[in-house]
Amino acid sequence: MRVERETRYRIRGIACPGKRFSYDGQAYHVVEVEEVITRSGRVGDVLTFETNCENCGQAFHFSKMKSYFRPLKQCRRCEG
Ligand SMILES: [Zn+2]
Repeated sequence: MRVERETRYRIRGIACPGKRFSYDGQAYHVVEVEEVITRSGRVGDVLTFETNCENCGQAFHFSKMKSYFRPLKQCRRCEG
């Protein structure tokens, strides 16, 4: 069992498919941007990212709100 601090990051700037950036040595690639209405009635962007698992190297996708980006470094199998 382990306890980890969950940190949220905000992505600044215009998000569009094809954008690449890196954070903390990990490369991310935006593959999809979808506009959604949140429960509070605000419009937000949900971004789908692709990155390679730092443990097994397998490419995987994950989706996060643009305003609450939590960078994942490991695929679901390795995350444990
Ligand atoms: Zn993995």
